[in-house]
Amino acid sequence: MCHASLCIGFDKGGATMNKMKALVCRECGKEYPTKAIHVCEMCFGPLEVKYNYDEIRKTISRKKIEDGPRSMWRYLDLLPVEGTNFVGPHAGFTPLVRAKNLGAYLGLDELYIKNDTVNHPTLSFKDRVVAVALTRARELGFETVACASTGNLANSVAAHAASANLHCYVFIPGDLEAAKVLGNLIYKPHVVEIEGNYDDVNRLCSEIAGEHGWAFVNINIRPYYAEGSKTLAFETVEQLGWRTPDQVVIPMASGSLLTKIWKGLHEMQALGLIDTVHTKINGAQAEGCSPISTAFKAGRDFFKPVKPQTIAKSLAIGNPADGYYALKATAESHGSMDMVTDEEVVEGIQLLAQTEGIFAETAGGVTIGVLKKLVKQGVIKKDEVTVAYVTGNGLKTQEAVIDSVGRPVRIQPSLVDFEKTFKMGKNGGGDA
Ligand SMILES: *Cc1c(COP(=O)(O)O)cnc(C)c1O
Repeated sequence: MCHASLCIGFDKGGATMNKMKALVCRECGKEYPTKAIHVCEMCFGPLEVKYNYDEIRKTISRKKIEDGPRSMWRYLDLLPVEGTNFVGPHAGFTPLVRAKNLGAYLGLDELYIKNDTVNHPTLSFKDRVVAVALTRARELGFETVACASTGNLANSVAAHAASANLHCYVFIPGDLEAAKVLGNLIYKPHVVEIEGNYDDVNRLCSEIAGEHGWAFVNINIRPYYAEGSKTLAFETVEQLGWRTPDQVVIPMASGSLLTKIWKGLHEMQALGLIDTVHTKINGAQAEGCSPISTAFKAGRDFFKPVKPQTIAKSLAIGNPADGYYALKATAESHGSMDMVTDEEVVEGIQLLAQTEGIFAETAGGVTIGVLKKLVKQGVIKKDEVTVAYVTGNGLKTQEAVIDSVGRPVRIQPSLVDFEKTFKMGKNGGGDA
């Protein structure tokens, strides 16, 4: 079924054009049909979607995009689905906030926050990847969807599955924040809590995915799922008035988001939507789980898996699937990477909240903490147009800041008590 309101801006050609060419191995280049497969049977490399850019170039334009729906589906021409029967029709097109206060504090003339704390429906960037994954899974005929998650992914898969009438299993580590656990249970999927960390969850899920005919969004549907992240690049460029930023700061878990922002920028260039990309890509991790940033700083192009120990649980992947590609993209862009302590994560959350009124989760604290460090190091300069990706909502990770925010001032319900507390005379004045 096609809701008319969702199809505005798409001519028939846009919806039916044969834009997906194949799945292609990122290592050896062998091509596969666009089904639910994710590894190359020749070399075990990961597969990604290959597009028919010559076809896409014929119809795509800035105007066509601008006339599209106010969601990530305005970039449908560059997303790996065939129809317009979307799961998650409202995901994306979140605000790009001009961060004047934070910019002034850090010494940056033109800083923006890409604010995915308000993404629909589950308040994190994962709504983008899940919308693509479940739309594609349904096109491929799946009736059961599943995921291995560090928290936000499970919330998003569970919510989207409920709205799309799909059976749902989500697998989470045993130490997740209360709001992220509740944010699964409320949609009534099968919630499976594993006694172990994300890497244990992922290992188990890879085995389950091989046994059951389910769509595991970040395993056998991963080539499609990952493409949803490109919309964060597309939106940023469009919202900047079809300019590319000079610098971006991106939080890394598996490293997929970072690699896809890089891919998205280059697709726009290849299609003539923007001039030559000169954006520097910067990756951010928490010290307690920084296999990718550590490798970058050591000048290595490979990472060593770690055992995660950080409050930034949404980024706590010790063996990141796209770590190698994240290192490669960052190096190609002449960007940088860094990491911050848990203390700096909390400071970053508070700094963003108190300067811009945006309450981010721990991953946002990582991004802001690393942004601050990169400015201090002179990696990001005063006059460079900079975008920081804030990817999840602070109400989901209250444990991280509960001991740092103080308590409300408590008074009796009386004017006298109020004025005494704030040391006010009868004719105003005073403060607290
Ligand atoms: C999943 C996630 C990321 C990054 O994920 P990748 O695996 O690197 O693509 C960033 N921020 C938040 C809040 C997340 O949940």
